[in-house]
Amino acid sequence: MKLLVHACCGPCSLEPHRWFVNAGCDVTLAYLNSNIHPREENLRRLETLRAWAETQGVSLLLGDYDPETWESLAGVYGSNRENRCRMCYRMRFEELASIAKDQGYDAISTTLSVSPYQFTQVIEEELQRAADAVGIEALFQDFRDRYPDATRRSRELGMYRQNYCGCHFSNEEAAQEREESKAARKAAKVAIITAREKAREFCAEKKKEMEY
Ligand code: SF4
Repeated sequence: MKLLVHACCGPCSLEPHRWFVNAGCDVTLAYLNSNIHPREENLRRLETLRAWAETQGVSLLLGDYDPETWESLAGVYGSNRENRCRMCYRMRFEELASIAKDQGYDAISTTLSVSPYQFTQVIEEELQRAADAVGIEALFQDFRDRYPDATRRSRELGMYRQNYCGCHFSNEEAAQEREESKAARKAAKVAIITAREKAREFCAEKKKEMEY
């Protein structure tokens, strides 16, 4: 069966590609990610994927990079993350399904479901929707259980691993989350030091009392 798999990046492609090939599919990856901002970041992720695909003999197909259309379809939802991500999946899967139909593929899938930070259920719904619209199969797989393996293998391969999903909103959200985690870690550290100081003072006082 000819399967066209939307590839969001190199690290997330490793496990789904292996799984679909082992399942007997004739797999082509499709890099269709107009969501990724800025353009240099889009190219960096593409080059990471392409370098790995070339060493493995993996077929890779490229779509257009059209951030203006992404802004008008998904970016307009701003901080409403679930709606924004739904439209972001929709845009990419519609492009995927259209190419798959034109080029005679039997089914489509995506590597996005590797990430535990995505809306898995929405991914499945949107993949099905895009496939139904052109009359081909949607071969959705929940790959979240493969996330630790994807992380380990991509580190071993020295792949570039981005620290935000892709759009400029996600870059800002991830930076804010990192700041919040940093502040929480700092507060926890201060609390531990304070508690130890108190315990030390308590022990010293008790020791003094025993000496009288
Ligand atoms: S967070 Fe990721 S999936 Fe959601 S809109 Fe941004 S790039 Fe798309």
